[in-house]
Amino acid sequence: MNLYEPTPGQQVFGLHLPDYDELQGCIRCGRCLPVCPTYQQTQLEMFSPRGRLSLLRAVEDGKLALTDGVEDHLYHCLDCRACNTVCPPGVRIGELIVRGRVAIEDKHPRPFLIKFMLRHVLTGAERAALLSGPLRLVQALRLDRLAAAVLRHVPGPVGRRLGELIELAPHPGRPLARELAEVEPATGPQRHRVAFFLGCMMNVAMPDVSRATVRVLRRAGCDVLTPRGQACCGAPHDDQAMLDFSRDLARKNIALFEPLLDEVEAVVTDCAGCSGALKEYAEWLHDDPEWRERARRFSAKVRDVTEWLDAIWPEELTPVHRPATATYHDPCHLANLQNVRSQPRRLLGRVTGLEMHPLPDSHPVRCCGSAGIYNLTHTDMSRELLDRKMADVAATGAEVVVSANPGCLLQLEWGRRLTGQPIVVKHVVEVLDEGLNGQAQGDPRPRG
Ligand code: SF4
Ligand code: SF4
Repeated sequence: MNLYEPTPGQQVFGLHLPDYDELQGCIRCGRCLPVCPTYQQTQLEMFSPRGRLSLLRAVEDGKLALTDGVEDHLYHCLDCRACNTVCPPGVRIGELIVRGRVAIEDKHPRPFLIKFMLRHVLTGAERAALLSGPLRLVQALRLDRLAAAVLRHVPGPVGRRLGELIELAPHPGRPLARELAEVEPATGPQRHRVAFFLGCMMNVAMPDVSRATVRVLRRAGCDVLTPRGQACCGAPHDDQAMLDFSRDLARKNIALFEPLLDEVEAVVTDCAGCSGALKEYAEWLHDDPEWRERARRFSAKVRDVTEWLDAIWPEELTPVHRPATATYHDPCHLANLQNVRSQPRRLLGRVTGLEMHPLPDSHPVRCCGSAGIYNLTHTDMSRELLDRKMADVAATGAEVVVSANPGCLLQLEWGRRLTGQPIVVKHVVEVLDEGLNGQAQGDPRPRG
């Protein structure tokens, strides 16, 4: 790969980054290097936050041609935002890299299949659920395992990669979107009223986790209002440089939830990627005079479910787990982006029987390699990061690995299958739900 094609003094292509001035804010101190997962793996400047900013600046200044190498480096970023948390002048590195992807989209468009899936399938929980029927049939007939086994013996990297993709596919349950009543009343003493945002991935890949979320919210005294026709949060589209599309999805969700905002205390979701995106709507639509205030009002009400439950947990509720050691993996978009770190830990601290063993590198978080569709588009780097994460998990001695984002849970579950570690992988709300219902007393059973 020829990354540099220097063309001294000649303007090759102007990125026209709206935040060019912010690019100049990097003082090249290097604080972001040791926390960047791709730099940790490669020890190469071009795989670091500082290196990526230098690339963008060189292209914008006309000192570097816009080669495939530039695109490759921008998309090798996990968008984990660990770098943002340590940068002394506060350069919003992750956001600038996404802006850079948008700026190069004309010359280096994303692959057709990715765009097709994002435009036509991953547009909302109900549409995404169309995938789950065929997938469930294929998995019930075990055709997926057969295909993965055959592909593993095909020479070359393509067969291996396809086999891995098939192994990564979630085992979906019955989708939840059409099952939830518009109002699910509190089952404990009614104290709160919340709106529920159901993410596409939660509905397709982990509907039982979201069922647990609604049960726990109700037990904690919440009426749960779920409006029909929710759009995708837009995070995957934003990540893949489809900014216009992600903003349209944001407007749809704001318009849908707006009539409820006066009667609910919060808009709650159990997907950390979604809560991060919903909170960013205020920034996404800041330059749109018609939507700026509406987006600000909506984003101000958004709470990740761990954040919300921690704030309102009734003292009389005590979840009970069989005695077990556990560890918590922070989703990047919950910890690095939203600074929600202590809340899930406090919730898990309420569970009698669980003994928490911390993972290293939890501030800032080191990504597990899931990162939206990164584990599909950059499988090798993703696997390296997963291997490190699973080694860290093993070192804690934990039997239960808890997280709060569907991408992380699927990635960790994949790691469990690859390594054969004797662990179970769970969402925080599953641990709470099982603990409240006396279901976490027996031997751990792996998911899927
Ligand atoms: S967002 Fe994550 S992967 Fe990307 S440059 Fe920052 S630390 Fe590195
Ligand atoms: S921490 Fe910030 S200022 Fe320092 S090198 Fe990284 S991006 Fe530049």
